Amino acid sequence: MDKKLGVYLCSGCSIGDSLDIEALEKIAINEYKASVCKKHAFLCSNEGVELIQKDIKDEGVNTVVIGACSPRVNYDIFRFGDDTILERVNLREHVAWCQTPKDEDTQMLGEDYLRMGIVKAQKSEIPEPFIGEELSSSILVIGGGIAGMTSALDAAKIGTNVILVEKEKELGGWAKKMHAQYPKKEPFTELKPTEIPELEKEITENEKIKILTSAVVEKISGQPGQFEATIKQGEKSSSYKIGSIVLASGWKPYDPKKLTHLSYGKNPNIITNVQMEERVSSGEPLVTSNGKAPKKIAFIQCAGSRDKDHLPYCSSVCCMVSLKQALYCREQIPDSKVFIFYKDLRTPGQYEDFYRRVQNDEGTFLTKSEIKAIEPNGNGIIVEATDTLLGEDIKVNVDMVVLATGMVPTTLDNNILNLDYRKGSELPDLKYGFPDSHFICFPYETQRTGIFAAGCVRAPLDLDGARSDGTGAALKAIQATELVSRGQALLPRVGDTSYPEFFMQRCTDCKRCTEECPFGAIDGTEKGTPLPNPNRCRRCGICMGCCPERIISFKNYSVEILSSMIKAIEVPDEFEEKPRILAFVCENDAYPAMDLAGIRRTKYSPFIRTISVRCIGSINNVLIADSLSKGIDGILLIGCKHGDDYQCHFIKGSELLGTREENLKETLQRLMLEPERIKAVQLQINEYDQLATMFSDYVEEITDMGYNPFKGM
Ligand SMILES: Cc1cc2nc3c(=O)[nH]c(=O)nc-3n(C[C@H](O)[C@H](O)[C@H](O)COP(=O)(O)OP(=O)(O)OC[C@H]3O[C@@H](n4cnc5c(N)ncnc54)[C@H](O)[C@@H]3O)c2cc1C
Ligand code: SF4
Ligand code: SF4
Repeated sequence: MDKKLGVYLCSGCSIGDSLDIEALEKIAINEYKASVCKKHAFLCSNEGVELIQKDIKDEGVNTVVIGACSPRVNYDIFRFGDDTILERVNLREHVAWCQTPKDEDTQMLGEDYLRMGIVKAQKSEIPEPFIGEELSSSILVIGGGIAGMTSALDAAKIGTNVILVEKEKELGGWAKKMHAQYPKKEPFTELKPTEIPELEKEITENEKIKILTSAVVEKISGQPGQFEATIKQGEKSSSYKIGSIVLASGWKPYDPKKLTHLSYGKNPNIITNVQMEERVSSGEPLVTSNGKAPKKIAFIQCAGSRDKDHLPYCSSVCCMVSLKQALYCREQIPDSKVFIFYKDLRTPGQYEDFYRRVQNDEGTFLTKSEIKAIEPNGNGIIVEATDTLLGEDIKVNVDMVVLATGMVPTTLDNNILNLDYRKGSELPDLKYGFPDSHFICFPYETQRTGIFAAGCVRAPLDLDGARSDGTGAALKAIQATELVSRGQALLPRVGDTSYPEFFMQRCTDCKRCTEECPFGAIDGTEKGTPLPNPNRCRRCGICMGCCPERIISFKNYSVEILSSMIKAIEVPDEFEEKPRILAFVCENDAYPAMDLAGIRRTKYSPFIRTISVRCIGSINNVLIADSLSKGIDGILLIGCKHGDDYQCHFIKGSELLGTREENLKETLQRLMLEPERIKAVQLQINEYDQLATMFSDYVEEITDMGYNPFKGM
């Protein structure tokens, strides 16, 4: 593409009060030979935008650099079509709003950002979307519980073909086995049958849904839009072309055999809530092992849940389930007494009304307590507890104990998806097995692109929660096939048409990219040659960061582009007064945090230059070397929080950096440079108030250390 550069500078929003705009114009025209360079007092106005549009139309400008507000705002206003390269230089939030106006250092900062933006635009190319052949828009739903059934039905209702695979003989999941469900509607006091029969009828009558019961997935290969699923039903295996997948394989009860401290297994009358549900829904009268109706029944809440030695999380339904089952007992055996021992009763929203109903029942006793012991005693069982409200010890002799055990996701079974992926056949193992990807921002996403989780496999939920999850995941699955059909990325870079391209002639088959891609997007031959699957890719650039040969790049994001941006920074000689720190900032958390700091007019050091990166894991080591040889005195790598409650939008990009940081520090030491010249920092988006101190502390540390000896070489 023959580039014709147009640079447009806004002097509104205090930018003109802060920066010498004419000096910026000169840089664009004299240093970068911009064909057009214009300034406007209100560039995002109709008049301002028309000015740019006119130059695109009449002057043939096809590479537009806008020096104005953050690219995170007005993106719908500054939009000039797929044929135009657009680069936004953040002169407002990152300069005018956080620096001293008309100061020499402020001007130098603005000028550097303009240079870096122009160079980026000049080096970028317009991405051509990857659109695979024979794309399918069908959705495979695995699991026919309430979540899977809802997903299948909702997707089918808007015209999508669905294949619903259920391993049991019948649809319905756990809900089908329930005697009744706790109330979901006003007045929130009466038990109701579940809606499974109606849902089942609707699904069976819907022509868009192919139901395969007594069936399991034998193998899934391919990528979004082009998955091939082999499904085994009885002895017969069949293959289906699939666009995206909803995993709704549900939950299983926490293994009660592990609850020896609650005496499970020591007495047949110590049962779980699941066993209680089975007994009541069987239609047989509720009896103990000696065939008599229990007159005293104890429910033990959080049996193994919210317990660091078992399930540290709350299963969210057990409190409501025990209240429901207390009613089963009281209705079947009116002269019975029910004791509910709880740590906290969690009955959110309108469920409080149901709690009141049970609480007001004269045969039900609720005690906030800690269980001390549960011991079989002759024909009965003694429950010993400390009432945590009154501080008294209580002892109750009961006929039956029901342990309110929690849920664990079926993904812990590890044989559901059978993915033909080099990175593993199931979803990556997470601490508790719930297969999330970024639990805060993208609830249904898993770590395998185009595979979405819904219902209790994703998080402990009740029937209503699982239903809305089913709907949410169906919408995500449809969105996935739609985006793939346009060659666009799924979350978090929705709509991005760039994808990593490999210059294979120089590949050494080192397998680094295959191993480090968090999404299993890159398969590989036995020898190690990468086999990329562009539709599995989330466009994070982690592969680009890890490739020692630097042969992975995107049309608009590459080592070369980043390196040129670094080289565009003007590094002054006078270190004492003007050190230079380069901060690579993650576009998902750190960059918006800087915007927030700007919006709050937080002043920070003018010696920091930032480069926004897709993921902090996309920084190739060579960029660090380039920065140091340019004379940059210190390098900050600001990524997202990682760990168990990670918030990295690309799962482990910021974590990977930790390992790379260590290697880099060793390299620095070999070059006789202080390892502290590189510093990795984790920052959450809401920690914008820490930026100013973080920057000034690092500037001080580097100033004390002295200048980079490579400066000026
Ligand atoms: C004792 C008890 C009582 C409850 N009572 C209530 C209540 O009254 N009200 C309420 O709102 N909630 C209640 N709940 C919660 C409720 O059970 C869940 O919300 C619901 O089961 C979630 O549905 P799901 O579709 O996510 O999972 P599931 O019900 O577990 O369904 C998953 C389906 O996937 C299938 N499957 C599993 N693996 C595969 C595979 N590899 N291939 C194909 N298919 C597979 C399973 O056979 C199953 O049919 C109760 C929970 C418990 C423990
Ligand atoms: S850009 Fe990210 S998701 Fe795509 S192949 Fe590279 S590492 Fe994997
Ligand atoms: S990291 Fe680079 S050199 Fe190594 S296998 Fe991947 S593409 Fe080839």
